Amino acid sequence: MCGVMGMYSGGTDVFPDVINGLFQMQHRGQDACGIALADGKRIRLHRGLGYVRDVFRNRPAPEFSGHIACGHVRYPTQGSNRLDNAQPHLVTTLSGPMLALGSNGDLTNYWEIRRFLEAEGIDFWGTNDGELLLKYIAFHHIRKGLPLLDAIRRMQADVKGAYSACLIARDKLYAIRDPYAIRPLAIGAGGGNWVVASETNALDICHVDLVDEVAPGEVVEFSRDGMRRLPHPDVQSLRANGRTTPAHCVFEHVYFSRPDSIVFGERSYDVRKRFGAWLAEHDDVQGDVVVPVPDSSNAVALGYAQASALPFEFGLVRNHYIGRTFISPGQAGRDDGVKLKFNPLRSVFKNKRVILVDDSIVRGTTSRKLVRMVRGAGAKEVHLRIGSPITQYSCYYGVDTPTREELIGSRLSTEMIRHHLTADSLMYMSLEGLRECVGGGANFCMACFDGNYPIPITEAKAWEGDDGRAVG
Ligand code: AMP
Repeated sequence: MCGVMGMYSGGTDVFPDVINGLFQMQHRGQDACGIALADGKRIRLHRGLGYVRDVFRNRPAPEFSGHIACGHVRYPTQGSNRLDNAQPHLVTTLSGPMLALGSNGDLTNYWEIRRFLEAEGIDFWGTNDGELLLKYIAFHHIRKGLPLLDAIRRMQADVKGAYSACLIARDKLYAIRDPYAIRPLAIGAGGGNWVVASETNALDICHVDLVDEVAPGEVVEFSRDGMRRLPHPDVQSLRANGRTTPAHCVFEHVYFSRPDSIVFGERSYDVRKRFGAWLAEHDDVQGDVVVPVPDSSNAVALGYAQASALPFEFGLVRNHYIGRTFISPGQAGRDDGVKLKFNPLRSVFKNKRVILVDDSIVRGTTSRKLVRMVRGAGAKEVHLRIGSPITQYSCYYGVDTPTREELIGSRLSTEMIRHHLTADSLMYMSLEGLRECVGGGANFCMACFDGNYPIPITEAKAWEGDDGRAVG
């Protein structure tokens, strides 16, 4: 997972706004970040490994300014933390840098397209999906001479997978979305500025209002003439399996997006509260207190507490300087991470029947540690409630789920998982419940829960090369 942002202004320097926007989306990727800035004549790029606040502590150079930008924060994955994989990417011709692109999402035919380009003599710096998208567009535009929009359409026809991308070409900015609109991409406008971003909290900080989302398969052009929307003439032809609807990633609402963002037309906070209410309405356990595993399940637990009229308490105090537990490399790191991240409030737990709410169970590491921690803090009973169905399948479209074998939900029954986690009871949302909470579910990809992959996985993706992964 990553966060991407594009900005076009009438003439003012957009660097400060893009920094703020990327900073708002830091939760979408802490591995690396970068900004390409254009002034209509030149494109300049600055990228680095680490957090936005560190990579862009200062303006990289006095001349690093411009009124068109593409920014990116990259999601961490093991071993692939190389600057070559950081985004945006640039394509330079003899007359200078010409195109820059950053993207969020994973491609499913990466190696097929890469082999094609390599056979044409195109070199690759890393194994990143954004680089492939850019080089495929550049190949058709620069080498084959197709008009830019035709080259983008060609990319949409041939490259499969999830991409929400921003592209700078000369004095214009483009937003491009895959035909399934798997990853979010919102458009904002205000004060003469246009902003596209993975999450609307990045629009908020730039003082622009949400206008719409980029539609499935759509290309949106921003220029001196304003916004020009270019819907795909036949988006249906780009989709597989006769699917007529988009396939938005439901995991954005479950875990990934910030609760204050409007994602796929709904504020994640509201959706998560519905998850919690659903759990409460289908539960018959007797509890004394509802406690979230902060932060991603705060709204789920609140929804549960409100629907069940039980007290809500922040019984686990979170250290905000540690980042997302799941991301620390290796199992040992993850184990320590849980203790470093949470500390229990004994007064909340002592002699209580605790409803402990988390958003998801992936490997089971976090929950097992937390159940023990809560019991160690004096809880009489620990009832674990999960604001999503059983995670059983890997994601190939941009969420860094481990292999199926590592997913506890693909190996064990719910009762065996409960036993492993040492909880008194364990309840997940049902698939039906999840669908109900997101308006029937027809517009969503829920492959991590139901194994129903909207885009066929033609070639198991990219566990080759340097570290293996090509991530977006
Ligand atoms: P685990 O310990 O492997 O079961 O991980 C579960 C925890 O990781 C949950 O508390 C989630 O909040 C979090 N989580 C779930 N999916 C992801 C993901 N793709 N990236 C980072 N964290 C995640």
